[in-house]
Amino acid sequence: MGDAVLQIEAVQQHYEQGDNVLSILKDANFTLNPGETVALVAPSGAGKSTLLHVAGLLEQPSAGEVYIGGRATTGLDDDTRTAMRRSDIGFVYQFHHLLPEFTALENVMMPQMIAGLSYKAASERAQQLLDYLRVGHRVDHRPPELSGGEQQRVAIARSVANAPLVLLADEPTGNLDPTTAGYVFEALDALVRQSGLAALIATHNHDIASLMDRRVTLEDGKVVEG
Ligand code: ADP
Repeated sequence: MGDAVLQIEAVQQHYEQGDNVLSILKDANFTLNPGETVALVAPSGAGKSTLLHVAGLLEQPSAGEVYIGGRATTGLDDDTRTAMRRSDIGFVYQFHHLLPEFTALENVMMPQMIAGLSYKAASERAQQLLDYLRVGHRVDHRPPELSGGEQQRVAIARSVANAPLVLLADEPTGNLDPTTAGYVFEALDALVRQSGLAALIATHNHDIASLMDRRVTLEDGKVVEG
């Protein structure tokens, strides 16, 4: 196993659709090492979200094993998987999924308070993260009052609030105009590198992909070097 933060081993994912079985992942293998950033670039429908959901313990694979920080996860019960997802995995979606009735600061505090941090500690860390991502001046605003780029920065801050082992991002800038996407990605990349996080980021943007340490793609349900 080594000390990979994420290892996907012989993973298969099949979906039943009527009488058909869709085989999206077929013997997918992938290793993410500490501090490594990897772009996942593949056409729509190739299975990027499926791979990220399996890696993020949001879906159980049909077969194979997913190791997070060296620990096998497929045999674990739902509560343990949920606890691991909260402590070890940060997830950024294309759409931010922030809670609209809470401020930016509160959205970033929330996962920390669920993890047991005090109000003071959680608010200080949230402020630091939002400052780092250059939205520190918007902490008291609610998501609907923020621009798309600002919303995504807050979502990124929230995803790393509990200092996860691995960051998974599913087209995190896919909903933004190219200039804003560039700025948001720069902020994400700087945060990941400064904190020594490992990240697997699905993107259609080749400029963004070229900034990562490594690129992989999905071909016929397998992960191959891109
Ligand atoms: P990508 O992220 O590369 O666009 P996805 O992983 O979202 O690809 O989807 C790959 C394929 O799997 C698509 O054809 C999609 O319709 C199918 N798929 C994904 N999730 C499900 C599901 N829960 N049930 C049935 N089919 C699914």
